[in-house]
Amino acid sequence: MDKDLKDKTLTELEQIVVRLGQKKYLAGYIFGFIHDKGISEISQITPLSKPLRAKLTEQNYFISQLKILRKLTDPDGTIKYLFELSDGNRIETVLLSGDERRTLCVSTQVGCAMNCAFCATAKVKLRRNLTAAEIVDQVNIVVRDASCVARANYAIRNTHDAGRITNVVYMGMGEPLLNYDAVVKSVRILNDPAGKNIGIRHITISTCGIAPAIKKLAEEDIHPRLAVSLNAPADALRAKLMPVGAKYSIADLIEAAKFYRLKAKQRVTFEYVLIKGINDTVLHAQMLAKLLRNSRCRVNLIEFNPHPGCEFVASGRERIERFAGVLGAAGIRITVRFKMGQSIKAACGQLGAAWEGKDER
Ligand code: SF4
Repeated sequence: MDKDLKDKTLTELEQIVVRLGQKKYLAGYIFGFIHDKGISEISQITPLSKPLRAKLTEQNYFISQLKILRKLTDPDGTIKYLFELSDGNRIETVLLSGDERRTLCVSTQVGCAMNCAFCATAKVKLRRNLTAAEIVDQVNIVVRDASCVARANYAIRNTHDAGRITNVVYMGMGEPLLNYDAVVKSVRILNDPAGKNIGIRHITISTCGIAPAIKKLAEEDIHPRLAVSLNAPADALRAKLMPVGAKYSIADLIEAAKFYRLKAKQRVTFEYVLIKGINDTVLHAQMLAKLLRNSRCRVNLIEFNPHPGCEFVASGRERIERFAGVLGAAGIRITVRFKMGQSIKAACGQLGAAWEGKDER
């Protein structure tokens, strides 16, 4: 992807333009036309001179583009996109719409190697990492698609707003911190005011808990919000649910999260998928409350989303509220997320449907 202009930060584009003997500011047009206007042909970047456009093409520069293969809409407004990559691989991306927020859940890998027991993506073997361009393009294309839908629907007057994405979460297929460089680069591109200009506090990286990479991210000069998938209050149970737990203990994760919060001055959230009878008892809640008492982290409680081949059962509202009550009484800030996008298998932990029957481990 060395020649893919979509895979470049503004600084990298400036270096390319200067290498071609041109003024640095011209890179701003390339970046803006790709990420704001959504063009996919170098010839369409009309503020550049014809000779410069020709030179870029001669030197094999190009602008990659994902292709929408399928789009499914749930009655609750959730939309799931199936994208085809240039090599024929496929990924899924989910748009969740709330009252004030439109959150896009992006993928970072084709498949995943982490094998979490509650996740459908775990059944899709890891094929490869996505490039920064492929991560960013999920946002670019959904914004464009949502704007087109709005334009076609005269009931929505402000088409710009209709296509707007307020939040991006790196929580789709794959473990973002195992595709570290491309993920960090994609955050820089999405955050750049010359492009999509998504505020850094509106970008969240969700990890299954790669403790050293959390610390590495804390040392960067750009700090998105961080979410760490915890799912158990004890190492033995966590390792059963998430094999990565055998490598990095809960204590490692709490320490890494604290390091990130202090260094990055960004909020850290622990995510906890509630599975009936497995990790959702009052005792589990009490243990979790004790672990996180002084962490100053928030906890996101997520109802388990069933999928074929997984025997786990969702906790149900009553057990979730009981669990939340224990944490709340201990002074821990919590958010409860109930199911969205169920009918189209777009809920948390359900992505990978596109591969069903094709590529099971
Ligand atoms: S929960 Fe995340 S890290 Fe775990 S298997 Fe699913 S996609 Fe991979």
